Amino acid sequence: MAVFKPENVEDFYEIEDVLGSGHFGQVRRVRERTSGTCWAGKFLKIRKNACSRMGLDRVSVEREVEILQAVQHPNIVALKDVFESRSEVVLIIELVSGGELFDFIAAKENLLEIEAIEFLKQILEGLKFIHSRNIAHFDLKPENIMLSDNMSPHPNIKLIDFGLAHHFSPGEEYRSTSGTPQYIAPEVINSEPLSPAADMWSIGVITYILLSGLSPFQGDTDEETLKNILALSYEFNRQYFDSTSAMAKDFVTKLLVKNPSERMTAEDCLQHPWIKPITRIQAVHRHRSSINIKNFKRFNARRKWKMSYNMVWMCNRFVNLKLLCKGSTDPDPLQRDCESDVEDLDSKPASLLRRRLSSS
Ligand code: ATP
Repeated sequence: MAVFKPENVEDFYEIEDVLGSGHFGQVRRVRERTSGTCWAGKFLKIRKNACSRMGLDRVSVEREVEILQAVQHPNIVALKDVFESRSEVVLIIELVSGGELFDFIAAKENLLEIEAIEFLKQILEGLKFIHSRNIAHFDLKPENIMLSDNMSPHPNIKLIDFGLAHHFSPGEEYRSTSGTPQYIAPEVINSEPLSPAADMWSIGVITYILLSGLSPFQGDTDEETLKNILALSYEFNRQYFDSTSAMAKDFVTKLLVKNPSERMTAEDCLQHPWIKPITRIQAVHRHRSSINIKNFKRFNARRKWKMSYNMVWMCNRFVNLKLLCKGSTDPDPLQRDCESDVEDLDSKPASLLRRRLSSS
């Protein structure tokens, strides 16, 4: 069981700039006062009581902490410390300073499949490790695949955000409908029992996007996207996949499989000839084929635009909520610009479906 230190985090760390925001708080750079070393501090608002709609319940934070402690691997972000106050928990995490993998790739002029494979291999190694520990991430998407740094030509992948992850007990049946529509597996939508295979579906979607700059199931609305997923309605449109190798398409096809038990596992993926070629011809193909960088750049620009749109949308909600809270005797619930308070409001953008439907 993790120790949640009752001391004030600011006695040990200087709080610096914001690195990112999530649904339940911010991630900020923090500097250890004794050593000067920088870390990422994930500030999570905790629900004051069972009836409160604001913040996370402590059990789910304990779960995230327990999982992070269990998954020490070079491709997974490391947890250093946990602090707790009356209203929030602060996770001190390894600082990942290279940004998102998708941004790193989008800045390139071209990318051979072999180069994309080097990143994919690391993602698969991280997944193979957590799955071998009976842990599934359940929220794999571009925003949660980061790079240790962006200076070296071959930076390390770091998987982040274990907020939806689950540690399976032997024989346990676990269901959850949380996730981000574009990346979730059919069994999540159908509220069926889940397994680490749901992560492998997301890898199929992410690889498809990486190759083509298209999202395989994306509809005009979330409903349409979910329908497309359930109908397994996707294709390799020649226009977008003309520089893609047959092996890469085979790899994706073996992941976007409706029956979770028939999907490739992370271990299977690492043995697939696209990742680990057996013949010389297979190896050569990976050097000759490239990702559709032009369209990938477009996809990434749209993705970033949507992310900032969501952020503005949430900020507007804060302002409205703050106005509503005026006159209340409660302390300001938005003191850390935490988005959690808007979770229950209607009409939200697609990416905010996360955690909303959680029903484990
Ligand atoms: P969400 O609700 O969107 O899933 P969350 O509250 O669970 O978010 P994270 O996804 O863990 O929070 O982090 C939010 C953002 O903060 C990330 O997208 C990333 O930009 C940044 N971030 C998270 N962890 C780190 C880290 N270790 N180093 C650097 N930046 C980080």
